[in-house]
Amino acid sequence: MSNQLTEKIKQLKTEQNAVILAHNYQSGEVQDIADFTGDSLELSRIASRTNADVIVFCGVKFMAETAAILSPQKTVLLPDKHAGCPLADMITAEQLRELKHKHPDAIAVCYVNSSAEVKAESDYCCTSANAVEIVESLPQDREIIFVPDQHLGRFVAEKTGRELILWPGYCVTHVAITEDDISKARTAHPDAVVMAHPECSEPVKAISDQILSTGQMLKFAKQSQAKRFIVATESGIIHSLKKQNPGKEFFPASERAVCPNMKRITLEKVLWSLEDMHYKITVPEPVRTRAKTALDRMVAILPAK
Ligand code: SF4
Repeated sequence: MSNQLTEKIKQLKTEQNAVILAHNYQSGEVQDIADFTGDSLELSRIASRTNADVIVFCGVKFMAETAAILSPQKTVLLPDKHAGCPLADMITAEQLRELKHKHPDAIAVCYVNSSAEVKAESDYCCTSANAVEIVESLPQDREIIFVPDQHLGRFVAEKTGRELILWPGYCVTHVAITEDDISKARTAHPDAVVMAHPECSEPVKAISDQILSTGQMLKFAKQSQAKRFIVATESGIIHSLKKQNPGKEFFPASERAVCPNMKRITLEKVLWSLEDMHYKITVPEPVRTRAKTALDRMVAILPAK
């Protein structure tokens, strides 16, 4: 059945001149039918460079929106319209405007895990891979608002020595990983290196060996001499880690580190999405141009490698 589905998807993809992108947190079978896998920004950049007319974004809404911001002339499809991100939904544009009103001289930096409207209200966008460098590049005499993830924000504050005005947002999946999970995993695999995502809580990060974004985890695992790794982020990434490192072993820090929104995307939904050309993700032009400015400023500081 899965083979039939895959064949149908491939056929429709060619007919529609579509490209399928899958985030590192997607299920293994969805990652395997994708043309590209990676983190959200990496995927959006790939999308804007291809000649495809249609982008099927296997991820959550803010990711499809980011692709639509960067590629307004292309049709961007999200296979499940309910695949949202609770972290991105924790701040609205109105709430950010109020925060900016309280701190009129502050520079507003938003994590890419935010809505298009929040990006439009921000001066800079950042990812978990470049947040430290973006904040480091900002003038020392200016206050900085950082939204919406408080855990990534605290990590950036610690690394840069800057005091940030934080928003109390968090990723439900990453905060589900506890110190106890890490301790138990270390007991079970004493020689393993613990890699934690910056969205994890501070106590978890404090007892981990490496704090890395998903892209950095993939790179680190490849280059490291270590053979075993405990992975403290959404468990979908283990599929890519294993595929890229056949001689190494990867263990999830917690069985609870599964994002239900990411897992809404299935092969069937990818097929239906291409058959019915749904669900189209668009961003109103005035919002898109302002949001793009925040993304462009990020790229101007840290061009794509
Ligand atoms: S893993 Fe967390 S940040 Fe990523 S989509 Fe799920 S809820 Fe949002």
